[in-house]
Amino acid sequence: MNLRPHVLIDRFQRRVDYVRLSVTDRCDFRCVYCMAEDMTFVAKHHILTLEEILEVARAFVELGVAKIRLTGGEPLIRNNILSLIEPLGQLRGLDQLVLTTNGSQLQRLAGTLRQLGVTRINISLDSLQPRRFRQLTRHGNLDQVIAGIDAAVAAKFEKIRLNAVILKGRNEDEVLDLVNFAQQRGIDIAFIEEMPLGLIDEHDRALSFCSSEELRAIISRQHKLDPVDDPNDIAGPARYFRSSIGPTRIGFISPHSHNFCHLCNRVRVTAEGRLLLCLGNEHSVDLRAVLRAPGYTLATLKKTIVDAMTIKPERHHFDLSATPDIVRFMNATGG
Ligand code: SAM
Repeated sequence: MNLRPHVLIDRFQRRVDYVRLSVTDRCDFRCVYCMAEDMTFVAKHHILTLEEILEVARAFVELGVAKIRLTGGEPLIRNNILSLIEPLGQLRGLDQLVLTTNGSQLQRLAGTLRQLGVTRINISLDSLQPRRFRQLTRHGNLDQVIAGIDAAVAAKFEKIRLNAVILKGRNEDEVLDLVNFAQQRGIDIAFIEEMPLGLIDEHDRALSFCSSEELRAIISRQHKLDPVDDPNDIAGPARYFRSSIGPTRIGFISPHSHNFCHLCNRVRVTAEGRLLLCLGNEHSVDLRAVLRAPGYTLATLKKTIVDAMTIKPERHHFDLSATPDIVRFMNATGG
């Protein structure tokens, strides 16, 4: 019998049961599509404490949320992050505690994360060429990230997925190598279309745009791709395919070419405690103000979250050739 309360339903009858919590806007990388080279980060006292983040998680789970993703910035560089992950791993009612990371800390932390209850992990990987990897991430060390991926494989997460953002003229020649890399490790890979979040001047997003269809055509030259009909993934934005080699699923996340808003089941909370109802819109509610108000109670926080469902937008509209409407960078949003 399912006793989970069904409380978070928006105006379009979409049920929200998935929350992405950004635990920091800081990152040890500066990926060219994600951030500017010189970033100003949020002052520490504006960032939710780990106790406040746990309280937010508790409120969402009591409201029927079954899946929480920790993200950032780079979640694994937040001080004492394990002291948040440990109680999250024990939250009753939370079925999936998952994480998105750049992999830089995984060699050290993968085993512990698994023991503490992290079930699945997404690891960003845009290139297998050390110099190019450094250029795309500005600071990243490829060997360290590959060692982190291998540590994650050894730690036996339920699922591991690589996330790759492909930019025309930069790394689209590596699409097949990235697929092969995932297949050698028996893990999934998803290709994400670049989104116009935050003002960047490192490249022209319209010129570097590589659609999922183009990538699928490249992969289809070597692999016969069969659509995967997995009921667990229907609510997610990735459309998955399998090739004949191994268990690897090849996914495409296409916020431009294949709008998935009608299936949207998620909201985000930024590191400052702003509840964002949509990745591509500014509709938000300040949870930090609620958490830090005199006389705070969990009931007030839950009511604020329930009320926020009435402003969840129907869909996003991205236009790569215009100045971005959304000036927050992905690291601030919580990717
Ligand atoms: N630091 C972690 C990481 O690197 O995975 C988590 C945060 S990062 C913002 C989450 C994901 O968002 C990464 O896979 C990254 O490639 C993706 N991302 C960042 N900026 C993006 C953009 N403008 N368009 C599409 N994906 C983006």
